[in-house]
Amino acid sequence: MERPVLCPSAPAAEGAVILGVVNADGSIAYLGQRLIATREFVDIARIGREPERRFRFASPCRQDGCKQWVDGECGVPSRVKEILPAAAADDHLPRCSIRPQCRWYRQTGAESCRICPWVITRGPVEDEISSAAN
Ligand code: SF4
Repeated sequence: MERPVLCPSAPAAEGAVILGVVNADGSIAYLGQRLIATREFVDIARIGREPERRFRFASPCRQDGCKQWVDGECGVPSRVKEILPAAAADDHLPRCSIRPQCRWYRQTGAESCRICPWVITRGPVEDEISSAAN
């Protein structure tokens, strides 16, 4: 069975891939190995600040069930790149656990991986993107 395409900036949920942890400087420390969030993990992570501000999760892409889906693709990578042009110049690609299944990578390849470390799911950049999408 073909594995689903994953959104790399998904809500915290049981069964989601824990993609990485938000560092103090706002960048993402990726987990090189695939770890799946358990119910217990999510419950504990919900104590305190929103888990989406402290971790990045990946879950199956909902395509047109998501407000970020525009003209047959995810609108997030291109908008993040507009907001973070300097980060996009970094040639270092993170060692992430979902690349073959990643929606952003499938759309724009390594370009997405260069901006990905600066995306916090409920952080300021995504808030900006979300408000632009509303
Ligand atoms: S954009 Fe690149 S680094 Fe980010 S989750 Fe997708 S494959 Fe991994």
